[in-house]
Amino acid sequence: MTAQILDGKALAARIRDEIAGKIATLGFRPGLAVVIVGNDPASAVYVRNKEQAAGAAGLAARTIALAANTSEAALLGLISELNADPATDGILVQLPLPAHIRAQLVIEAIDPAKDVDGFHPLNAGRLALGMPAIIPCTPRGIMRLLALSGHALQGARAAVLGRSAIVGRPAAALLTAADATVTLLHSRSRDVATECRRAEIVIAAVGRAEMVRGDWIAEGAVVIDVGIHRGADGKLRGDVAFDECAARAGAITKVPGGVGPMTIASLLENTLEAALSRRARPG
Ligand code: NAP
Repeated sequence: MTAQILDGKALAARIRDEIAGKIATLGFRPGLAVVIVGNDPASAVYVRNKEQAAGAAGLAARTIALAANTSEAALLGLISELNADPATDGILVQLPLPAHIRAQLVIEAIDPAKDVDGFHPLNAGRLALGMPAIIPCTPRGIMRLLALSGHALQGARAAVLGRSAIVGRPAAALLTAADATVTLLHSRSRDVATECRRAEIVIAAVGRAEMVRGDWIAEGAVVIDVGIHRGADGKLRGDVAFDECAARAGAITKVPGGVGPMTIASLLENTLEAALSRRARPG
């Protein structure tokens, strides 16, 4: 079987163009503030990519870079200024934060209406309950890639590998809301390979390079690879052994060029939607 490649790069480019078209007609530029603390090189690359994509789509994006020794109180002070700033529609604090700052406290300080990462417990809780919420960017992108595959989600058996708050759990909630039958797997799960093999949809978000092997994949399954790992050879790999799995899958994403660009496109969508819904609110 020749697997359909779910081209996240091309789909993300289309979404970014659509967003740019909408913003051009708005009469204002939705504002995105990206906050980074410290000098983590991977975070710096992610933040630069987000700011560039946001700027290119017509958002008013700015990065606020703080020194690694910034205090928790100073960061919380900045968040409360951004919460109060009418020109800021979306606030994103790049994770991980330095160890002396409690990330959860910072996430909870963000106005839920400006929480374009969708990590605030109010948004996470609403999503878990199947209510409208700001959806975390990576799972939102995953759902778009699943739609691109054309595979019906209703009643489908889906295996989600990984239960993090930013990928696995919200992806499982979205699949549940779409009427899939979801198995959420984690490091204590037994028979992960067997569970995977039963699934028509496999979402791999374990953070372990090429853990998902070809014989874990049912013929024709849709495989979404969230993992990002840079090998000693400088090449990027995912959580999925691509060649083996592509030989059995019906559709599959690549790393790079799959979930990564969709995460950024979803951030732009979240920011545009946050801007529109804040302005639509009375008062
Ligand atoms: P994470 O917070 O480290 O969570 C990993 C999850 O995988 C945990 O739930 C863990 O289980 C589970 N796990 C670990 N080893 C396992 C095993 N052997 N069998 C079954 N489950 C196992 O990771 P994350 O933040 O969700 O990210 C996952 C991957 O996606 C990483 O490679 C990350 O770089 C990548 N990522 C990519 C994007 C993107 O835009 N492309 C965005 C976010 C993340 P426990 O809960 O039991 O510990």
